[in-house]
Amino acid sequence: MKQVCCRDLGNDCDFTVSGEIDEVMDAVARHAKEFHKIDVTPEVAEAVKGVMKDV
Ligand SMILES: [Zn+2]
Repeated sequence: MKQVCCRDLGNDCDFTVSGEIDEVMDAVARHAKEFHKIDVTPEVAEAVKGVMKDV
């Protein structure tokens, strides 16, 4: 499984998600939109993948 911590993206935020990569990317996209008003552009998606950990 993969895990992404929103804090690792430079946000002061405790959101963490883990799961299969597609689930993680979906959850991050929803979270970014709802809580940070950020659209997941290709650049943002790359940053998310950059902080993604194997768990
Ligand atoms: Zn967040």
